[in-house]
Amino acid sequence: MSGRDLARYLLDFGIQEVLLAEKSGGPREEVDPLSLQDLAALAKALASCQRCRLAKGRTQVVFGVGNPKARVVFVGEAPGAEEDRQGEPFVGRAGQLLNSMLRACGLSRSQVYIANIVKCRPPGNRDPQDDEAATCLPFLKKQLSLIKPEILVLLGRVAARHVLGITAPITSYRGTWRHWEGMDVLTTFHPAYLLRNPQAKREAWEDLKKLLVRLSGAQRGRVANPGGESTGVV
Ligand code: SF4
Repeated sequence: MSGRDLARYLLDFGIQEVLLAEKSGGPREEVDPLSLQDLAALAKALASCQRCRLAKGRTQVVFGVGNPKARVVFVGEAPGAEEDRQGEPFVGRAGQLLNSMLRACGLSRSQVYIANIVKCRPPGNRDPQDDEAATCLPFLKKQLSLIKPEILVLLGRVAARHVLGITAPITSYRGTWRHWEGMDVLTTFHPAYLLRNPQAKREAWEDLKKLLVRLSGAQRGRVANPGGESTGVV
């Protein structure tokens, strides 16, 4: 039976959808986001993602922002209300503090890349649940495989738990280097924690100095703020 005969046969039975699909080149296949080879295509593919329950409450997917060839990527846990509204990670008060932390390191948002473990806002700003993080983490890994940073900075215990699998208190491992998926990984406090506990800024600055030493490469061994009077994070 020719294609035309089949079409006429189907039309006789009122199966118009099949004909429409044939006309438009056949049924549309969903693209596997993990097969994509650039960040813009990945962001587009995830914009309508429904793979976990967080899709229900979000305004938009918060993909990530920054330099697609960044040497260092900062990862938090999840978008908050302002991030959900603006579609960009770390834009609320915690984001302003992160900007200060970056400035203290001589960095700007456009030089680094910033993302989260999950890309959709959990209701009421709760921590992402294990299954939500496990569903979304492959997309963060894909982002990282495209950016190819040397260093990953995990912001807070939730990010560290889902990336490194560490459940110990953050105070027992922050500021220490680990290795994960080909990157050097440093964990420090989440900026939101620092807003609630400003006395921890000094420890966060100690962590950031380790980042600076690692980033400076040739200047290894020197801290960036030898005077050391300022916490470096304001
Ligand atoms: S959190 Fe991640 S996996 Fe869940 S709906 Fe959003 S983009 Fe998809």
